[in-house]
Amino acid sequence: MAEQWIYLDGQFVTKENAKVSVYDHGFLYGDGIFEGIRIYNGNIFKCKEHLDRLYDSAKSIMLNIPLTYQEMEEALVETLKRNELRDGYIRLVVSRGPGNLGLDPNRCPKASVIIIVEQLAIYSEEAYKTGLKTVSVSTRRNVPDALNPKIKSLNYLNNILVKIQSNLSGAGEAIMLNAQGYVTEGSGDNIFIIKNGVITTPPCYLGALDGITRQAIIEICHQKGYKIKEEPFTLHDVYVADEVFLTGTAAEVIAVREVDGRIIGEGHAGPITLALLEEFRSIVDKDGVKVW
Ligand code: PMP
Repeated sequence: MAEQWIYLDGQFVTKENAKVSVYDHGFLYGDGIFEGIRIYNGNIFKCKEHLDRLYDSAKSIMLNIPLTYQEMEEALVETLKRNELRDGYIRLVVSRGPGNLGLDPNRCPKASVIIIVEQLAIYSEEAYKTGLKTVSVSTRRNVPDALNPKIKSLNYLNNILVKIQSNLSGAGEAIMLNAQGYVTEGSGDNIFIIKNGVITTPPCYLGALDGITRQAIIEICHQKGYKIKEEPFTLHDVYVADEVFLTGTAAEVIAVREVDGRIIGEGHAGPITLALLEEFRSIVDKDGVKVW
């Protein structure tokens, strides 16, 4: 197998040599941000949108990214070229960098930038037809006035607790509510429901990441004439929906067949979900930055 090259603060190092300090505040405190991006057939899908979200997250937490936007895009392209990757996943991490054991970010003089690119294997093609079994969990989405879920921070403990509960229930993904009981998102994806031809996704202010795939699906809905709304809804609305699906960079558009023991629709991916997946897959190698 060819060597995997990791971008680490301007250098390319092998996987074995890609090491960061135990004093890095990303490690000590989850102090940093990240992006998960995909390359499809040599095209970094929605590269600008991902970098915009990265730089917005950085601004929000007052993290000074040591690369300009242009340099960051070049670093992504170079890492993909180095690894000869045409189709796969890109993990871009910016941590606060090494400091001391104290919390104070002023003790971290330079943020660290890491880019890892890999082949991606997530759900089988079969899973896109059968859909996922999901459960709702008791862990609530962290509230926007504590740590805003719009910031794609390295602090994923909220999501990990959700994943643990989901695993314990034997589910493939979980549905997180906010403190008021409104549906927000999955542990690593956004959620949509469809009832009588109307597609609804929760507004991000309820406590959801402003997913790039979520936005792409909203755009497709507008272009193709589907009725799409961003409105709050509850678990009851999910249980009685005709179709439910999740969106994310890794998951793309995947149907949900079961929620808390309630069978959704016919118990497999519904027609609108499959049509949206097809539309989505038709744009992924066009909309973005071409590497190859
Ligand atoms: N919500 C959370 C909590 C996530 O981690 C992700 C994955 N980045 C998403 C939603 C989906 O966002 P995107 O479509 O940008 O991957």
